[in-house]
Amino acid sequence: MNPLSLDQPWGRGYRPTHTHAFADGSQLPSTPFLPRGLGRSYGDVCLNDGGTLLHNFRRDRLLAFDHARGVLRCESGATLADIAQTLLPRGWFLPVVPGTRFVTVGGALANDVHGKNHHVAGSFGRFVESLSLMRSDVSSSLTLSGDDTLYSATIGGLGLTGLILEASLRLKAVPGPGIEQEVRLFGGERGAGGIADYLALDAESKTWEYTVGWIDTLDRNLRGVFFRGRHCEGPDEWLVPQPTRLMLPIDAPQWVLGRCSARAFNALYYRLHSIKTAQRSVIPIWPFFFPLDAVNGWNRAYGRRGFIQYQFVVPTVGARETIPRILAHLREAGVASYLAVIKTFGDLPSPGWLSFPMAGTTVALDVPAPGSDDRRALDEADAMVADAGGRVYPAKDARMSPAMFRRFFPRWHELEAARDPLISSSFWRRVTGDLKA
Ligand SMILES: Cc1cc2nc3c(=O)[nH]c(=O)nc-3n(C[C@H](O)[C@H](O)[C@H](O)COP(=O)(O)OP(=O)(O)OC[C@H]3O[C@@H](n4cnc5c(N)ncnc54)[C@H](O)[C@@H]3O)c2cc1C
Repeated sequence: MNPLSLDQPWGRGYRPTHTHAFADGSQLPSTPFLPRGLGRSYGDVCLNDGGTLLHNFRRDRLLAFDHARGVLRCESGATLADIAQTLLPRGWFLPVVPGTRFVTVGGALANDVHGKNHHVAGSFGRFVESLSLMRSDVSSSLTLSGDDTLYSATIGGLGLTGLILEASLRLKAVPGPGIEQEVRLFGGERGAGGIADYLALDAESKTWEYTVGWIDTLDRNLRGVFFRGRHCEGPDEWLVPQPTRLMLPIDAPQWVLGRCSARAFNALYYRLHSIKTAQRSVIPIWPFFFPLDAVNGWNRAYGRRGFIQYQFVVPTVGARETIPRILAHLREAGVASYLAVIKTFGDLPSPGWLSFPMAGTTVALDVPAPGSDDRRALDEADAMVADAGGRVYPAKDARMSPAMFRRFFPRWHELEAARDPLISSSFWRRVTGDLKA
């Protein structure tokens, strides 16, 4: 399903490691390994440099569906794409989806992913009734649910507590394959400033199930486009996504990826949406949730050296001042970003010790192949996020320092204690290596 190398993360630019495919009846490897889904994480949480990656995507069966309760039992290599395509015709959809459907259930659990409905639904892990986990130090698989310590360690546990074999997920009933969508502009020349305008729009949209914004971080006024949507009926042909015909056949050359191109792209994107503003329309479910899935291998647009995504969240109180300060800092340091997304999380608690979402506002920026100046600016941004009481998302990371990680996720040592002794990742060694002593 991944059009590129299965041994690369989505951000690219990394060395492959040894791989091993896990199938039914397989034993876990007897040497250090890391479970792996579809590698849609951007950085090194899904890498195990010098060790084995245990590919799990072949265990992808949907095992049973309880129609009365809307509960699906499936293998952990099943993708959100498989689940949505199979069950949407029966009136069911996933309760939480990230911005791509090409992720496995195991990967979605291990990063406790969030979606455009976090303000009303919380994170993916909240919809897990139970899961089964295989560890190298226990002879049979364990069945875990909400009260088990290992359950809270495994949700958002970055794959470190064992191989998730199966999960039972609570799905949601939907009226059909349509989304009623409304598009609004914010910031720009008008209003109180982009973030304040965004927050006001977000506050008046609480009755909408899905909300998200795109933001032009290179614009001083932080202009942007706000999308809100809710499920509705739609024609039967929308029950399945349009086949992905577009494919980026080559890596973009490095010279295309500078600040000027980012400015031009952002201006065009804003202008295109200004035509649709305040319009209500009914669109298929797929482009609303997964616009980037329409282009196979879109990550090649960032060239052979790849890119990272910088995603942080800061608490609700103070977000109005903190976010413009962080974005101004990155803009002044010359960090170019094309696709930046802004989303306000709700206060429903995430079940995992290391879950990323918290009550507040999150911003995610794509940064093409960051050089040393960009990295320094991002390190400084980390400190601003930490001082504000926020955190940076490990699923998108390839650079945060051990000291920052410890400030963002103070329960890291509990996860270290619950870690399967044979499992580790490049991320985990990088962020905990010099802290364990
Ligand atoms: C275009 C795009 C948009 C995205 N949008 C969002 C978004 O809106 N919100 C969000 O939260 N994330 C988002 N992401 C990130 C993505 O949802 C997560 O990184 C997700 O975890 C990837 O799942 P995967 O199956 O590819 O797992 P991988 O990336 O392969 O692995 C992720 C982690 O899961 C662990 N893991 C995988 N399978 C198992 C298993 N069976 N047992 C135990 N551990 C396992 C791995 O060890 C690793 O730590 C986006 C990514 C892309 C490319």
